[in-house]
Amino acid sequence: MAAMPQEVVDARLGRVTRAIYEYLEKTQEDGRRAHLGASLIGKPCRRQVWYTWRWAKNIKHEGRLLQLFKTGHLAEPRFIDDLKAIGAQVVSHDENGQQFRFTAHGGHFAGSLDGVATGLPYAPKTWAVLEFKTHSHKSFLTLVSKGVKIAKPEHYSQMQIYMLEMGLDRALYLAKDKDKDEMHDEWITLDKPFAEAEKAKALAIIQADIPPAGVAAEPGAFECKFCDFKDLCFGEQVPEPTCRSCAHATPVLDRPQPDGSGTWACARWESDIPLDAQRAGCGGHRYIPIFLANVAEPQDYHNGDVVYRVRKNGKLFANGEGPAAFSSAEIHACPDKAGIPIAGELKGMFPTAKIIG
Ligand code: SF4
Ligand code: SF4
Repeated sequence: MAAMPQEVVDARLGRVTRAIYEYLEKTQEDGRRAHLGASLIGKPCRRQVWYTWRWAKNIKHEGRLLQLFKTGHLAEPRFIDDLKAIGAQVVSHDENGQQFRFTAHGGHFAGSLDGVATGLPYAPKTWAVLEFKTHSHKSFLTLVSKGVKIAKPEHYSQMQIYMLEMGLDRALYLAKDKDKDEMHDEWITLDKPFAEAEKAKALAIIQADIPPAGVAAEPGAFECKFCDFKDLCFGEQVPEPTCRSCAHATPVLDRPQPDGSGTWACARWESDIPLDAQRAGCGGHRYIPIFLANVAEPQDYHNGDVVYRVRKNGKLFANGEGPAAFSSAEIHACPDKAGIPIAGELKGMFPTAKIIG
């Protein structure tokens, strides 16, 4: 058989990988979760947690990273098999086949456990929360040398919250090095004051209607280096115009939905907002003014529109539904916010014109 031409070989190289990555990217879950997750609460920057909770960005991951997350999920049944093999009794799902889940703060704070177990070597009669994590080699070495509380504070907080909410006082942290398959386990005891403080922190973040202080005051800080929200925190970007960034929306703390999830209410339409509608937002959206603080200062409130003065050039523009105002979607789409008032002058000449990015 004749050899395949090199250009055909080259054209085929990596096509399967690309197809898999593209599939994963196309089918990835919407990262804008209804609730504030217990897995986030131990992160060092409260502002970052608040931005996530307020859906400031719909973060999409690339295929390679999604493959990495999948590897982590696929490791869970293996952790369970290994525990069962040494005689532990493991329960990872309830009678309906659902992961154990807690909700608090009106359904707005929630998390799902990897499982609970008893019959572990050092505690044969005690039920413990289970938390399984896979690590890169570097992260695993830090974990082993420093322990989970120091090396992975968000995992530690997550387990503390789970123990508090499940009424258990022990947790088993079981980790694996993805490169070498080496394992590490830690037995964590409930620190009730700490867990309650983390739960109170979650409530403060849920109730905050402006971003809490960030972990750093400068964009060059190490903590901010890989933060998805850097351009919001220190730049001119504004959050996506969903209900979560709208001045009219409030999380309701005392009236969860029938499925236990949290309720959001809209003061503009005087109604609760279904989850899908929260993601879409509406024409009545008005940015919480502090979201534009890096760009403009609020000056006035006129017929429901908020009037801003641009810091760079002193010109005015309005966010709202009035004929000369800009919708939040237009403000979000405009890469140079200082140019909005200039676009406003054009709007005067061409009233139906819109900024579409
Ligand atoms: S950029 Fe820095 S301060 Fe701002 S949210 Fe991210 S981590 Fe926090
Ligand atoms: S006005 Fe519209 S975008 Fe704002 S909270 Fe109500 S439904 Fe959501």
